[in-house]
Amino acid sequence: MTITTKTLGYPRIGKQREVKKALEAFWKGESDKESLLHTCRTVETDNWKTQLEAGIDRIGVGDATLYDHVLDWAVRLGIIPQRFRNLSGLDRYFAMARGKNEIPALEMTKWFDTNYHYLVPEVDGTLQPHDFSGFLETVQQAQTVLGENRAVPVVLGPVTLLRLSRLETDWETAMPQLRDRYVELLQELKKLGVAEVQLHEPALAFGDASNFRNTYELTYQTLAAVDVPINLATYFDDLGEAYPWVIQLPVSVISLDFTRGKNFELLEHHGFPEDKQLGVGIVDARNVWKVHPEATLSRLESIESITSNLSIQPSASLQFVPYDAQQETKLPEELRNVLSFAEQKLEEVGMLANALSLSAEGAEDQLALWHMQWEMFEEFNDTASTVQEQLNNLTDKDFQRPLPYQKRRDKQPDLPLFPTTTIGSFPQTSEVRKLRGQLRRGEITEAEYQSAIDQEIAKCIHLQEEAGLDVLVHGEFERTDMVEFFAQQLSGFAFTSQGWVQSYGNRYVRPPIIYGDVARPQPMTVQEFQYAQSLTSKFVKGMLTGPVTMLNWSFPRNDISCRNQAMQIALALREEVNDLQQAGAKMIQMDEPALREGLPLKPERWEEYLSWAVDAFRLATSVAKPETQIHTHMCYSEFGDIIDHIERLDADVLSIENSRSNNETLFEVTNAGYQHEVGNGIYDVHSPSVPSVEQMVQQLRTGVENLPVEQIWVNPDCGLKTRSWEEVMPSLKNMVKAAQTLRQEVESQAT
Ligand code: GLN
Ligand code: ZN
Repeated sequence: MTITTKTLGYPRIGKQREVKKALEAFWKGESDKESLLHTCRTVETDNWKTQLEAGIDRIGVGDATLYDHVLDWAVRLGIIPQRFRNLSGLDRYFAMARGKNEIPALEMTKWFDTNYHYLVPEVDGTLQPHDFSGFLETVQQAQTVLGENRAVPVVLGPVTLLRLSRLETDWETAMPQLRDRYVELLQELKKLGVAEVQLHEPALAFGDASNFRNTYELTYQTLAAVDVPINLATYFDDLGEAYPWVIQLPVSVISLDFTRGKNFELLEHHGFPEDKQLGVGIVDARNVWKVHPEATLSRLESIESITSNLSIQPSASLQFVPYDAQQETKLPEELRNVLSFAEQKLEEVGMLANALSLSAEGAEDQLALWHMQWEMFEEFNDTASTVQEQLNNLTDKDFQRPLPYQKRRDKQPDLPLFPTTTIGSFPQTSEVRKLRGQLRRGEITEAEYQSAIDQEIAKCIHLQEEAGLDVLVHGEFERTDMVEFFAQQLSGFAFTSQGWVQSYGNRYVRPPIIYGDVARPQPMTVQEFQYAQSLTSKFVKGMLTGPVTMLNWSFPRNDISCRNQAMQIALALREEVNDLQQAGAKMIQMDEPALREGLPLKPERWEEYLSWAVDAFRLATSVAKPETQIHTHMCYSEFGDIIDHIERLDADVLSIENSRSNNETLFEVTNAGYQHEVGNGIYDVHSPSVPSVEQMVQQLRTGVENLPVEQIWVNPDCGLKTRSWEEVMPSLKNMVKAAQTLRQEVESQAT
């Protein structure tokens, strides 16, 4: 019996966010390349040492990055689109990441079903020279720090890389080219004497992996011929029907995720080849909870009874969790002790391996301690909440607006054709951010802060009236973030002070942690709404974040289902919707930008997810009277494949991000015969340029060609918080003019 411990990657942002700071200083010209690279190497070396001290046998190395690991592999392999070919070095690297002058960056999109974003390589069939030198140098450095056998290169697998790329050539041209490059890479790594190379192929967890069986087989036969041990790492879901052939691929180790999907059942059913090692990803790399020792150990024992050559490891790279839970000294001890960030997960990996091999001393004590910590947490968290009882008592009626859309429509506010509005946030200027800093540091009182926010609201209402908008918003100045703002006012959520994880490049987030039942002690947005409404005779929309987005952008509990957590949040929001309408709100918007991104990797699990996700939205909004108009907003949307579910949300008005999609999103909605009102985002808020009246008139005409005019709303495609007032005012005035133009056109046709 062999039991080793491994890691598949580590947080790479620095415990004090050193990489972000170094990057931003470099971009501003305040520091040079040497000092940037030095900072990154220091962070990387510290990471290696932490893992070495934790006793990990095979440490994944080479996963550190200046921006994104997928971009790194594209550059190393020579996948450089034409428009960047005149550039070189870091200049080219950051141009690909962020754009440069007129050269647009690579597209950014979500990394599987995580909240990390990667840059999409563009493969056009003409590879540029590759450059593995930096990577090989890193591996060598790691070997000096860790010893030759301990440093295991982490490599993004060729099939996954290509599947995640935008292909401007055919697969048959691209794959062999890429394969040759990987052969060269493996040959170089072999020369360094590495004990193993991790090839990460998370695309094997996609539901359609078997369609690519030939490619995987051919690729891995070719790579196996180099004769360096390969650890084929898969994660984020099970292998599904691909399991039987994947485990036969000619590699030494297959790593599976035992925290998501049904890999255990597949292992039980199909067994595992005796000549291979099984990498058991049993410590969840995407959640922040300590393992439950009994359950985990018994799962490991069952796995071991099926195949005995095992390594114990996190389910994926630990980049998805923060560094160290023990730093969170502001959290109650009972909670802190059951939290597990990267450092704690290393300890868990070691301890589970010890416990399993029975030889090591101390393992039992440690497991007993964890058991006790969980007991203490449960005692601490036992608030005898009534939320579960409320959920159990829900009936179908609680998920249903009192009248169907066609009947409630006439009762809702009367507005001109092509009503104009915005998505919610207005520029978060440095003054607004300064206020929050002052409040945090205790330099101003809560009352002073509130009155400063009120001034912002007043200014915002005034400027919206000046722009001539029909439906106004208060501007969201009191919110740092659309999830955090609500989570901070709900019970059941905890917040870290150092719990940063990378969202993309230099953007890090601190997701709230859901640890207990969710409840709303008091109204969260009513005061701001009321104040804003008191300043104008126009309608002001109440502005809320939906339950699914709240859940998907937090670290969830793992003792109850995501469905249950979404429903709890929905109940809290339902109370808020009701309070808002009592306070006079005739329109309430509930944003769900993260609804689509929560889709499971395997399409066969979509129905289940969408069913509760949509139910949660309905639970939160169906308390609205027929007279109250419910809006929802979604960005980054592709709706084609989920349009039925979007309809089932039963929102009265849906606003979508459309201006960059060439109207595709709009067509997806109109082709489906969508009957409710649609705000087809006609002003691209991600661009600093002011859209012209003519440009937006064009967009609206496309709307008119595809939708009855009564269904059309006029709005930007997302919130305006990252823009400046100087850009926003002329843009909104143009947008209002565009709506007026269309109104006149329609009216003159009618007469
Ligand atoms: N109401 C939010 C805002 O305007 C919506 C943001 C989003 O869709 N991501 O900022
Ligand atoms: Zn948006």
